[in-house]
Amino acid sequence: MVMTTVKLPEYGMFIDGEYTPAESGEMFEVINPANGQPCARVAKSDARDVDRALRSARRAFESGEWSRAKPDERAKVLMRFADEIVAHAQEIAFLEILTSGATVRRVSNADLLLIVDLLQQTAKFAQEYEYAKTLPLRPFPQPSHNQVWREPVGVCAGITAWNYPLILAMWKLAPALAMGNSIVIKPASNTPLSTLKLAELAVKAGLPKGVFNVVTGPGSSVGEALVTHPEVDKIAFTGSTQVGKRIMQLAAQGVKRVTLELGGKSPAIVLPDVDLDLAIPGILFGVFLHSGQVCECGTRVIVHEAIYEDVVQRLAETASRIRIGNPLDEKVGMGPIISETQLKTILGYIESGKQEGARLVCGGSRANVPGLEGGYFVEPTIFADVDNRMKIAQEEIFGPVLAVMKAKDVDEAIRLANDTVYGLAGGVWSRDLNQAYRVAREIRAGTIWVNDWHMFRSDAPFGGYKMSGFGREIGRYALDEYTQLKHVHASLVHEVENRHWYSIVLPDRA
Ligand code: NDP
Repeated sequence: MVMTTVKLPEYGMFIDGEYTPAESGEMFEVINPANGQPCARVAKSDARDVDRALRSARRAFESGEWSRAKPDERAKVLMRFADEIVAHAQEIAFLEILTSGATVRRVSNADLLLIVDLLQQTAKFAQEYEYAKTLPLRPFPQPSHNQVWREPVGVCAGITAWNYPLILAMWKLAPALAMGNSIVIKPASNTPLSTLKLAELAVKAGLPKGVFNVVTGPGSSVGEALVTHPEVDKIAFTGSTQVGKRIMQLAAQGVKRVTLELGGKSPAIVLPDVDLDLAIPGILFGVFLHSGQVCECGTRVIVHEAIYEDVVQRLAETASRIRIGNPLDEKVGMGPIISETQLKTILGYIESGKQEGARLVCGGSRANVPGLEGGYFVEPTIFADVDNRMKIAQEEIFGPVLAVMKAKDVDEAIRLANDTVYGLAGGVWSRDLNQAYRVAREIRAGTIWVNDWHMFRSDAPFGGYKMSGFGREIGRYALDEYTQLKHVHASLVHEVENRHWYSIVLPDRA
C-alpha cells in the first residue's frame, strides 16, 4: 500500500502586524472534530513569545497612534475592519467550521452577522461615548473646575474558549479597540485559526501594527504567562469557572482588572399556559445549539406538573428528529463535539444521569455519522424526572444533554431555577407576560429570555451573576470595562491666603 502524506497548512502567531514563528520553533496540531483528523499546524508559543507580543502591544499603546486617535478616526478603521470581514466571510466561516465543528448554518446565519454588526455598532457607540464630563460648580470644598475623563486601560489580554472563537474574540476586541486600548488575544488551542485571520484583516483595514496581537498555545503555560505579565493591565476571559478562578488568583498578584464570562446551568421555566408548538422547538434550540456547547444553553427545563408528561414526550419526539452530521452540510442541525476529551466527559455525565436514576427519554449515546467515523458526535440526549441535586442538574456538561424537572407551581419552579451556583441566563415560556416578567425578575441571572433563547443584540449587555462571572460584554456597557476613570481638578481660587492648605503649610502667615 502506498502511503501519501498531505502537508497541513501552517500558521504562525500574529505579532506586530505579521505572522511569526514561535521562538522555540515548535508547532502543535489542530484537529477537525468532524473527522478526528489534524487540519492545521500552529506556532506553539511560550513565555518569550508572550513577552514579545505584550511589548509590541505596549509600544503601540505608548506611541499614541491608536490610543490617542480621535474616536471618529478609530471608528473609520473599525468600519473598514468590518468590511474586510465581509469580504473574507467565506474563508473565515470555513476556518471556524473546520476547527470548532460549528454548523455552516450557524456560522453564516449568526456568527458572521453578529461580529460584523457588533464591530460597526461598537464603533458608533464609541463615537457617541462621553469621554469627558464636566462636574457642576460647587462651593465646597472650594470653587474649582472639575472634569471626569474616561481613558483607555492600556494593554488588555483576551483569553477565549473553543465554542465560539470568532464571537468571543470580537466581544473583547471591539470594545478594547474602540476605546483605544491594545490587545493580545490567546484563542483556545482547539480553535486558533479564525482569530489569527481577524488579526490579519484588522491590520489590512489600517489598524496600526502591534495594537492587536495573537499568541497561540496551551492555556496552562501561554495563558498563565499572559495573565501574570506585568505589561497586562486588564484581562477578559471566557471559559470554565475553574480556570476563571485560577485567573482571578493570578491576576490578584498584579492587581489587574478582570472580567470573567464563565459557565452556566441555565433554567427554562415552562408554565401551563404555554404555546407548546412554539416552546418545544424553542426549548430544543435553547439546549442543542452547537451540540449544547454554549455557556448560556437552557440545560435545565422546569415544567409545571399540569403539562409535564406532554412536554417530556414532545421534547423527546422532536429531538429524535434533529439531524446530526457534517457541519458543512446546510441541512445539519447538530455537528460534532469539540474533542475526544469533551466527548468522554459528556458520555460520563450521561452515565451518571442513568446511575442517579433519571429517566432517559431520548438519545444517550455516541452517534455514528457515515463517512465521518472518526468524528466526535453525540445524540441529542434528554433525561426526565431529574432531581435538581443530581450531577446532571448541577454541573455544566457542555454537550447535548437536557435535564427535565417537574414543579408543582411557579414558586417551586423559581426556587429550583435559582438552586444553582451559576447565574448566566434563564428563561420562561408562557403566554402570560405579567407572569413571565415576574419570573424574569425572580431568576438571578444576567440574561432572561421570554419565549425565546440565544438572542443577542449588539446594544444589550451579556454577563453573569454568581459563579457565572462578572463584568459585561457587548454594546455600550462593554465600553466602560475598557476604560478607567480620571478626575481632574483645577482650582479657581487664585489667592494663596484663600486656600485651605495655607494655614497648614504657612502657619506663620495665617
Ligand atoms: P477552559 O476554561 O479550560 O479554557 C478556556 C480558555 O482558557 C482556553 O483558551 C484555554 O487555553 C485557556 N486556559 C486554560 N487554562 C488556563 C490557565 N491556567 N490560565 C490561562 N488560560 C487558560 O475551557 P475548556 O476549553 O477546557 O473547557 C472545559 C469546560 O469549560 C467545558 O466542559 C465547559 O464546561 C466549560 N466552558 C465554558 C465556556 C463558557 O463559555 N462558559 C466555554 C468553554 C468551556 P487552551 O485551549 O490552550 O487550554
